[in-house]
Amino acid sequence: MKKESLSVKWGLLYLQRMIHYKSAEEIELIRESCLVVSAALTRVAEILRPGVTGLEIDQAAEEVIRDHGAIPGFKGHQGFPATLCISRNECVVHGIPNEIPFKDGDIVSVDCGSIKEEFYGDSAFTFAIGDVNKATMKLLDTTNESLYLGIEQAVEGNRVGDIAYAIQQHCERNHAYGVVRELVGHGVGKSLHEAPEVPNYGRRGSGAKLKLGMVIAIEPMVNLGVKQVMQSNDGWTILTKDRKPSAHYEHTIAIGKDRADILSNHTGIENAIKNNPNLKEISKKN
Ligand code: MG
Ligand code: MG
Repeated sequence: MKKESLSVKWGLLYLQRMIHYKSAEEIELIRESCLVVSAALTRVAEILRPGVTGLEIDQAAEEVIRDHGAIPGFKGHQGFPATLCISRNECVVHGIPNEIPFKDGDIVSVDCGSIKEEFYGDSAFTFAIGDVNKATMKLLDTTNESLYLGIEQAVEGNRVGDIAYAIQQHCERNHAYGVVRELVGHGVGKSLHEAPEVPNYGRRGSGAKLKLGMVIAIEPMVNLGVKQVMQSNDGWTILTKDRKPSAHYEHTIAIGKDRADILSNHTGIENAIKNNPNLKEISKKN
């Protein structure tokens, strides 16, 4: 009995460790799905302001996804109840949309997934509403910069650890922020979370080798204070242990020969922020 349950467990582990390499056609399907996510997040950037609630932006995002002939990727995933994960201030990720209005000075991490023609797309962005303080804006800038530094490493022949190291180095060594350990990036395909795991901390040259055909979500989750996190009573929301703010930016990318192919797109979001007087722009070095 014990042996059998053990082997079942190991079988599952083996499946989770298998990397599914994608054909060029499959990568294009994932791009389509990612662009639906980008459209939904762009809509969020257009309507986000003090007074709006998480439930309202969740509904708006779901409408955009369905208008594109896709379905929300997170709704029902392991029982998650909504289209978006909405995590404000000290919430790191996996926040459930609620009726509490956003207020001036909030930061809001919005993570969105979709399924189109069987393939997932996954991307996230942290928004700054109104007069967010300088220290928190710097956290957003740095976390977003670290995402692109990680993506720079996502080329054939490198290893997952090269991505991880680049992100950790920028956030911890350069800025003394806390990089979350318990949550990681992941492969993306017909499942939302595929192998390999893509941590935001680690050693150069360690981990799975990056090969053409691999599609991964890179998603630094970075805290202004300590790296430790805890789960709230709702069974979903992850909070910083010291209740200081946390930022989260995510792209789904395909490993490239000389440079990664970024399948999701934040340009629409950034333009919408520029045109939304209620939101503060993050500064981009990339
Ligand atoms: Mg995500
Ligand atoms: Mg993800």
